[in-house]
Amino acid sequence: MVTRIMSSHHNVSLLSARWRVAWYHFLLMSSVPTHADFVVVGAGVAGLRAAIELASAGSVFVLAKREVRDSNTQYAQGGIAAALSDEDEISLHLQDTLQAGDGLCNPEAAKVLVEDAPERIEELIQWGTEFDREGTKLTFGREGAHSRNRILHAHGDSTGREILRGLYAKTKTLKHISVREFEFSTDLLVEGGHVTGIHLISDSGQQQVISASAVLLATGGLGQLYLNTTNPAVATGDGVAMAYRAGAEISDMEFVQFHPTALYLKNAPRFLLSEALRGEGAYLRNLELHRFMPKYHPMGELAPRDVVARAIVHELEVSGSKDPVVYLDLGHLDAEHIKARFPRIYATCLQHNIDITTELIPIRPAAHYAMGGVRTDLQGQTTLPGLYAAGEAAATGVHGANRLASNSLLEGLVFGARAGRAMREQLRHLPSKVEPQNRAASNGPVDSVADQVIREIQMLMWRDAGIVRTGTGLKRAIEQLNSITPRVAHPQNRRAHEARNLQAVGSLVARSALAREESRGAHYRTDFPAHNDAKFLKHSIVTCNSIRFA
Ligand SMILES: Cc1cc2nc3c(=O)[nH]c(=O)nc-3n(C[C@H](O)[C@H](O)[C@H](O)COP(=O)(O)OP(=O)(O)OC[C@H]3O[C@@H](n4cnc5c(N)ncnc54)[C@H](O)[C@@H]3O)c2cc1C
Repeated sequence: MVTRIMSSHHNVSLLSARWRVAWYHFLLMSSVPTHADFVVVGAGVAGLRAAIELASAGSVFVLAKREVRDSNTQYAQGGIAAALSDEDEISLHLQDTLQAGDGLCNPEAAKVLVEDAPERIEELIQWGTEFDREGTKLTFGREGAHSRNRILHAHGDSTGREILRGLYAKTKTLKHISVREFEFSTDLLVEGGHVTGIHLISDSGQQQVISASAVLLATGGLGQLYLNTTNPAVATGDGVAMAYRAGAEISDMEFVQFHPTALYLKNAPRFLLSEALRGEGAYLRNLELHRFMPKYHPMGELAPRDVVARAIVHELEVSGSKDPVVYLDLGHLDAEHIKARFPRIYATCLQHNIDITTELIPIRPAAHYAMGGVRTDLQGQTTLPGLYAAGEAAATGVHGANRLASNSLLEGLVFGARAGRAMREQLRHLPSKVEPQNRAASNGPVDSVADQVIREIQMLMWRDAGIVRTGTGLKRAIEQLNSITPRVAHPQNRRAHEARNLQAVGSLVARSALAREESRGAHYRTDFPAHNDAKFLKHSIVTCNSIRFA
């Protein structure tokens, strides 16, 4: 924005003195401040929800590295879970969440998640989010591993977009919140062991520091670590990498959820085909058109995601085809209902010449969700004073070894609000000690060297630290990632910073996965295919060069 304003700056000399003063004030207002009471890195569901909580306590500066709509939140289709229907109970939502987590959920965090859910959703509705209804009653969908219909959705399959719209509109009504797009945070500012702000490359290409009483990392996921992902380009694990470099504890990084059903077409993005399609009764068929899931799990197509993803990998391997796929089949379902329930999926597939009501949809799994992240307590506080984390970048322990579908938007809402409250309560009115450090930086999004490094990382992570892992593969991944270190050590622009972050986060995933010598939830090793509760019913925790289980 500032860049665009600057580009017409040469016209300023033509303006009258009065206009010049007004112009100067406008530039001042639109430039990045050097101090805010609170900095929130990320404008998805977690960041915006936290900002709303903070607005009553001081100035809140919210950054998004691209447009606000470039986030995982915007892409979320299926819905958000909450025990709100007459047939449901909070205890059942808790039970399903713990079950999906495969023994590793933090029960206290999961309890907070499901208990806070109804209030957070009611609040969203009051602020203007419109969930789908039949008449005046909310409609609840069903997804894999949920024992009740409890998934609220909006505009059929655009739930995240509607939640983001509602939250963003709410922030606009609160005068202390400034949401700024195209501001890229590169690192945390740490003074005397306390996080006191962030470094950023601003929209105008300046390197700059913003000091703050507290910083919230709400930077979302890390799907871009993998060759195939449902995540948008912003999901490069920046928050986790920044926190790690600053010395915070990082937890559960080996648990990456791969969504079983992403559209697989050459030259098309890996568009997510929501779990809710299987909730409505869609079948999975192999190349021979056999329905294969019942032979892998009693819940068939509604088995937990990791089970479905591995079943698909197995079917792909045994198919004998060079470029195999499996299919999602909705042909037996009511076509009008499918079009009304999944308008976005229907329209997107039609753009690729697939009518999902009559034709088979070619699919493969893709990296989808990070259960791990920056370790926090129930208030979003990390192990570094002054630093908080919420949403997909955080590891609260609610998801354990595997996330229950539609619990992640909810996690962002619930723990975003809690982190906001905790930051508000700990506001320290410190004088800003930070001198402004405006230095020019290359802002170019194009960097073919960084692009090449990122491609290498994505390929090696997909091959050696993906859905099915081995000790040998993980060691190879770590070695190759180490060999990339010198090429990413001195980033000069945003893309190079993303390459450095992906290298760091890739190492965290591979090291944690190598250390966990068992299979659990989304982490599967062929050399250790069973649980080892005696040793590993614990969370992995990484700091600098150490890794431990606790
Ligand atoms: C295709 C898809 C479908 C999904 N469907 C569902 C669903 O149906 N239900 C469900 O519960 N979950 C779903 N999820 C998961 C869910 O959308 C995410 O887990 C959740 O939205 C994460 O929210 P967040 O606020 O943590 O991060 P995000 O929404 O990803 O927001 C991250 C923000 O951080 C900013 N950012 C990142 N790095 C930087 C940086 N260095 N500097 C400045 N800003 C930065 C980004 O610009 C962005 O604004 C889906 C995810 C995908 C990808």
